[in-house]
Parts: sequence; C-alpha cells; structure tokens
Amino acid sequence: MKENTIKVGWNLENTYTNLPDILFTAIDVNPVSNPKLVLLNDGLATSLGLDSKTLASKQGVEELAGNRVIEGGIPLAQAYAGHQFGNFTMLGDGRALLLGEQITPSGELVDIQLKGSGRTPYSRGGDGRAGLGPMLREYIISESMHALGIPTTRSLSVVTTGEDIMRETVQPGAVMTRIAASHIRVGTFQFVARWGTIDYLKALADYAIERHYPILMDKENRYLLFLQEVIERQAALIAKWQLVGFIHGVMNTDNMTISGETIDYGPCAFMDMYNPKTVFSSIDAHGRYAYENQPNIAAWNLARLAESLLPLIHEDQEEAVKQAQEAMTAYPETYETYWLTGMGNKLGIFNLEEEDIWLIDNLLRLMEQYDADYTNTFRLLTLGKVEDTVMFGNKEFDQWHEKWQARLEKQDVSEEFIQQLMQKSNPVFIPRNHRVEEALKAAVEKEDYRVLESLLKVISNPYDYNTSYMDYIAVPPDTSGPYKTFCGT
Ligand code: AMP
Ligand code: MG
Repeated sequence: MKENTIKVGWNLENTYTNLPDILFTAIDVNPVSNPKLVLLNDGLATSLGLDSKTLASKQGVEELAGNRVIEGGIPLAQAYAGHQFGNFTMLGDGRALLLGEQITPSGELVDIQLKGSGRTPYSRGGDGRAGLGPMLREYIISESMHALGIPTTRSLSVVTTGEDIMRETVQPGAVMTRIAASHIRVGTFQFVARWGTIDYLKALADYAIERHYPILMDKENRYLLFLQEVIERQAALIAKWQLVGFIHGVMNTDNMTISGETIDYGPCAFMDMYNPKTVFSSIDAHGRYAYENQPNIAAWNLARLAESLLPLIHEDQEEAVKQAQEAMTAYPETYETYWLTGMGNKLGIFNLEEEDIWLIDNLLRLMEQYDADYTNTFRLLTLGKVEDTVMFGNKEFDQWHEKWQARLEKQDVSEEFIQQLMQKSNPVFIPRNHRVEEALKAAVEKEDYRVLESLLKVISNPYDYNTSYMDYIAVPPDTSGPYKTFCGT
C-alpha cells in the first residue's frame, strides 16, 4: 500500500521504467491537430484523485490527447508477444502509451494509458491510431462490465483528434485514456521467456507479484504460487463472463491480464439469444473464441503462462513441468465451482447441491432450443413472470419449473432472501448490441452524444429492478443475419 495523499491531480509513479529495458521503449508524444473531449468519466476521475474540471480544461484535453505529457509522466510503449488465434507473434503497444501509474486516494497504483496515441516501434504496419467508434465502444462495454461487478480495465476519457483515419471507411480518429490495475499480459511473460534472460523473467515476475499478489512476495516458491493465483483469478473472471453472457471475441494471450481484469475490448459483445456457439467477431471464422469455448481458451492461455514461468518454478525443468501441470489441473475445477455457484445464485439457490446441476443444464438446454433471450429469461425467472418466457406452456419447461420451485422451497430461507439473491445475480441491463450500435452511430455520424449518455446511465445501474427504462431490455428487432463486430482498430 502506498501512502495516502490529499493532493488532487496527477500523482504518478513510473515503476515500469525500473524493469529491464527490453520490456519497453520510451516514446515522444505524437501530437494530433485538434483535440476535443467527447467523453469524461467523472466518477472514475474522482476515484483516481483527479479533478474533472482540470481534465476538461484546454491543457487537460491536450494531455488526454497525448499532445503534451502529464506531470510526472514518462510515456512508454510496452513490449509483449502473444498467441493470436494460436500463432505466436511479437507484438507490443503499437498504438498505446503508458504514461505512468497513478497513486489513487485509496493508495492503489493504477496504470494510465493512452490508446490510439500514434505509432511506436511495435506498430508493425499499423498507423498507431484508433477510430472514434471502437474507442466509444470500449468505453461503453468496460463501464458496463464494471457496473456488473466484473473486473475490468476502465475508460477515463475519449478525445477526438481532429484527424481522419483510414479503415474500411474513413473515420474520425480518437484517443482513449485507459485505466488498469496494470497492463501486464500473459504475452508479456511470453515475450521475456522467449527473448529475455532468466533474470529479466524474474524481474518481471517479482514486479507482477508485488503489484498484484503482494502477500506472495516473501514466499520461497512464490512463482508457482503466482501461477496458481493467476489461474484462480482468471477462472473467477471467465465464470463471470459466462454468467452474464459476455463474449470477448479475441482471447489471444496478449489480451489476457495477470491482474485478472478483462482487457482489450475489440469485437466483443453480450449475447442476446442463448446459443453457446455464439461468436460475434468478424475475424473469428472458425469460432475459436465462441461463447462456449471461452473457459477452455482461458486454460490454453494459462498453460502458455505456465510454460513461460517454468525456469522460475524449479531449477530442474522436469520438476518444474510437473509442478506447473499440477497447478493447471486446478483450473477446470475452480472454474466449474465459480460457474456452478454463480448459476445456482441466478436460480436463487445459495447452497448448490449435486442434483441442482440438472436444473441448470436443463434450463440452458431449453433456452437454447427455444431461442430464449439469455438476460431476459433470468430476469423473468427473478420476477416470477415465467408466463412471459418463450418456453412457457411447453411441457418440459413446466416440469422444469415445478422442480425448480420445489427446490427453492427446500431452502430454509425467506422468499425475500431468494429474491435478493436472484436480483443481484441477474442483471436487467446489458449493453445490447443494437443499442450500442445506435449510440455509436449518433455519436460518430452526427456528433450527438445524447443516445450514448442515456445508454451509459442505464447500464451503470444494471441490477435495478425498479427501473423505468424498460425500453432498454428489449431484444433487437429482427435483423437480416447475425450481429457482427469488427476488430477495434
Ligand atoms: P488488439 O487487437 O487491439 O489487441 O491489438 C493487437 C496488436 O496490434 C497490438 O500489438 C496492438 O498494439 C496492435 N495494433 C492494433 N491496432 C493498431 C494500429 N492501428 N496501429 C498499430 N498497431 C496496432
Ligand atoms: Mg490487444
């Protein structure tokens, strides 16, 4: 824990610069022509110890656009590698800059990063820039995830650059300021394991442990424990994704954090109709990152982390492999426990038993068969309005419903307790794809942010069962073909 501070404003450390220098490259800022603030996250600013008015001032906006460096910042691009759709590649921040780590009023250390801030040595063929649409999208979805109680990076601001960028179409350019527990990825470890020395690997691991798992710091076998902790946090995270129907879209190893936060919102989306095969990303032709595959893909990614840590786990590599494999065997069970407990809670069951799995499996099977909307089905069950579900009247569903009710009655708790458990486990509001698109269209094409602001307001309170915003629960009107999202470049 850092010392508390009363100073409002930037209060930066630059601890990442103490790491071996193959891990980053210091970068000069890449100014843009006409920065304009279009979104500012007031609540987040306050929790970071920042003042919204100062951030929105002329100087503040220049800083959020990357035209000038914030006080105490040392801009750098981080190096990392990663398996993209299974293929190992050198990557790194090709369009992002870490400015430093802010010490928050509560004593946490969080990364301040600009995304869309221009070219770096890791840009490969890219222009280093980001489009307004994708940055607003990341802002909306990450705020929603945060409000849903799912660990995530957050967005402090979006600034338009006054410059167009070329994608499939010409788009306004934008810079987003991203806040993260850190930006250390599985791919950061892969990078050092491949191109660094054991000492570098140790330095990175110790740094990550100190930031995210400080109680392990003086443990002798801390690298194995570190692996176990990351496995635990990722299992918990992916279970939370599954429980709300979130599909990340690009679960490459460079898009998986060591902190356990969701990161890099590209072609992600929430599922409307329940279908485990759902995939939104236009670049995921084979469905590698489909909804039902996410838990397994996380395990695959964690195995890449385990491999990278082998030299630190034990001197004897055979022994290291044995220990790492053992650590990995915990993942499926840990994930399953989180998921089952969460699913139980969604059904108002607080002490899940073996036979309850039947209830979960059969409900999901029926939902799939009847194209039931994922979020709304659980909302209706919470409200006791089964007659409004598309499955109502079907014999199998009615039997299921009877069994479920009988199971709930077996619990020695009040109805209110069950109600509360269900209400806090089943969101009313998710950022539905058609709503997100509508908000982005108004903002990008007409510079009208009202639609987006309204959406943000609603999804910031996702468990509000006393809501008057019922329009936002509606499923999308029938469209021609499945929803597709495009990579956030
Ligand atoms: P992402 O798909 O956002 O996770 O990015 C994958 C890799 O491509 C990362 O190394 C990014 O920094 C890089 N990248 C994405 N877009 C751009 C861009 N417009 N210019 C340069 N690099 C980019
Ligand atoms: Mg990425």
